[in-house]
Amino acid sequence: MFKISIQLRKSSDNARLNPICDTNALPEALTNRQGATRSPTTNTFSSLALISGLVFEDLQHDARYRELSRAGTVASLGFQAGAAFPIRSKDKILGTLHVTNLTKRQFAPEELQLLESIAQQVGVASENAKIFEELREAKERAELSDRAKSDFLANMSHELRTPLNAIIGFSQMLVDKKAGPLNPDQKEFLSDILKSGEHLLEVINDVLDLAKVASGKLELKVQSFSLREAIAETCGVVKPMADERNVAINVDASIDNDIVTLDLLRFKQVLYNLLSNAIKYNHANGNVKIALTVDEQKQIRLQVKDTGIGIEEEDLPRIFHDFVQLNIGTTKVQQGTGLGLALSKKILEQQKGSITAESEVGHGSTFTVVLPLVSPST
Ligand code: ADP
Repeated sequence: MFKISIQLRKSSDNARLNPICDTNALPEALTNRQGATRSPTTNTFSSLALISGLVFEDLQHDARYRELSRAGTVASLGFQAGAAFPIRSKDKILGTLHVTNLTKRQFAPEELQLLESIAQQVGVASENAKIFEELREAKERAELSDRAKSDFLANMSHELRTPLNAIIGFSQMLVDKKAGPLNPDQKEFLSDILKSGEHLLEVINDVLDLAKVASGKLELKVQSFSLREAIAETCGVVKPMADERNVAINVDASIDNDIVTLDLLRFKQVLYNLLSNAIKYNHANGNVKIALTVDEQKQIRLQVKDTGIGIEEEDLPRIFHDFVQLNIGTTKVQQGTGLGLALSKKILEQQKGSITAESEVGHGSTFTVVLPLVSPST
């Protein structure tokens, strides 16, 4: 019985598949393929040319072996026969599979074919193992940098919010004439400072929330509440905006039991995002309908339907991505952050809910939120 061994190159360098490759870790004569095609001396050796290996049936008396191996290491270890096959992966040689035998020996074509096919399989397995390892390392690197990014965003957002709240607070006091009367220009400029400050705060809060979701630190504060009341309160918040654009809001929430156990603030945040979009991207004098139902799976379905500008079909999946804003420059709508829907989606998914959108350009959009009646985190 001959002995089979496998030697793989230690480094993953890019040795090209070349008749003379650097295989210094391998028994030297067995790995030099030059002789394999240059001076076949036996029938078995001819068949070798077909399967591109190297076979010596009588090492001690084989002139080719002496020519190829000046040191004669394999023969000096007492072996009298040997064969070697390259272990390849694509265009690289990863190593060799070699067999040695203490006595002279003829290798049958089937044996050589079997050995070559083992070498091929080893090549495939090594390549797969390498790819798997590279993927694992890349995943680890990505997770690390994602964590660093989330931590950076969380710290930055915190540091930015403190001075921003002061800017908003003091400009609000000036607008309210707490420091004396203002002329019309001063009032206008201060209102712009206030509006921009509030917008910036909205962006920072959204970024902070996104960072929290990404790092798994968004904690849900679950409580029982009435959906009808939560909807009415959120409608109250967006009413001034709707009035300004003369957009009517109607609610149809005629379900028997409207008590749910979810995160109330996050529910209102999602609804606020949907309603403010339904108003912002609506035509003047348009309307918004809120419909609340419970589906067969005992989940709540909240629909916000507007009669606004609509969204192109190919844009629908993109609107849930971070910082995506369509229609920039084409509509005179209030500026947004491009984060509202992305954040809403993540908040809903954290509670095993979902959000989808349907739309018809020029006719309006419908956003559907599905949520369990009771948050799975309770
Ligand atoms: P933004 O702060 O810009 O509103 P969102 O994440 O809430 O960010 O929405 C992303 C983009 O999706 C918006 O910029 C807008 O182009 C589009 N969009 C969202 N809601 C609607 C809607 N009801 N009608 C038309 N377009 C919408």
